[in-house]
Amino acid sequence: MDEYLSAAPVPPPGLAVGLDIGGTKTLGVLLAPDGEVVAQARLATRPGPTDVLDGAVRAVEGVTRQAGVAMSDVVGVGVGVPGLVDADAGTVRHAVNLGIDGRPLALAELLSARLGGVGVGIENDLNAAAVGAAHLLEAEEGHGSADLAFLALGTGLAAGLVLDGRLRRGAHGAAGEIGHVPVDPSGPPCACGQRGCLELYASGSAVAALWPTTSDRPAPVELFEAAERGHLDAMLARDRYARAVAGAVRMLVLSVDVRHVVLGGGVAQLGDPLLDAVRGALEDESAASAFLRSLDLPGRVRLAPGRVSVGAVGAAVVGRGRFTLPASAA
Ligand SMILES: [Zn+2]
Repeated sequence: MDEYLSAAPVPPPGLAVGLDIGGTKTLGVLLAPDGEVVAQARLATRPGPTDVLDGAVRAVEGVTRQAGVAMSDVVGVGVGVPGLVDADAGTVRHAVNLGIDGRPLALAELLSARLGGVGVGIENDLNAAAVGAAHLLEAEEGHGSADLAFLALGTGLAAGLVLDGRLRRGAHGAAGEIGHVPVDPSGPPCACGQRGCLELYASGSAVAALWPTTSDRPAPVELFEAAERGHLDAMLARDRYARAVAGAVRMLVLSVDVRHVVLGGGVAQLGDPLLDAVRGALEDESAASAFLRSLDLPGRVRLAPGRVSVGAVGAAVVGRGRFTLPASAA
């Protein structure tokens, strides 16, 4: 039946589960057909392929049990994981924080088998977060085709890109790896082999280097609180950091002209104080440039919407796209 060959299968409406598996915790959500999050779960992650798989099964069971729904009502499960993900093959490797080495772990297939054959999709965690931010922004703005960069300020620095409503992974999966664009050729060496990479100035690790923490609280919290109290060195360090993040925002807007740049990752948990500092730096830079002013950089940068895990929501959206083909078509 040639006329059916080019038709993409349409997923049935139903519930989807999304998991964001991080080095310390696994977050799960149950996404209703209308896109609303109806249940959430949070578990500690235990490293190693067997424990990661067991934890994923427990998280899926946790959100379905919480919502009182059967696994047969779930049309797909999506998983966001750090490391090198082959979304087509459903495998992950080199996820150091999860204790997964260079051998590909067939996470999608193994998880599907443990969950009664439900379709499982897997995606790199940063890409999943970008998809989640796009989903939540579309709901907030009331129209489709979200267009954004999700800028993760964590141990490293990278962006996930959703352009015109589509995830952009890149020809080699390296789209958005702006953390390794050198911004100071005479700067310190970077682990990637270059010098003065943006990551060394704008990541969460860069904050810890600028303002070593004196307690068990995160360095960004200590830095921004000290600056707020009027500590002069802290104010200078905060403004220097905000300028570096502003540089990342400018790089993204000038490269792909995204409608929104969403700040995420550990540092973004600072919330409005971070947003205000970055907007302030963007306004300062725009003051001298009519060109930059015309691009309204401060108006494009924002925090992730909602109070749910954007990574888990994005994974659920990924999972919703995967489903078991009817027996007749298989
Ligand atoms: Zn680098």
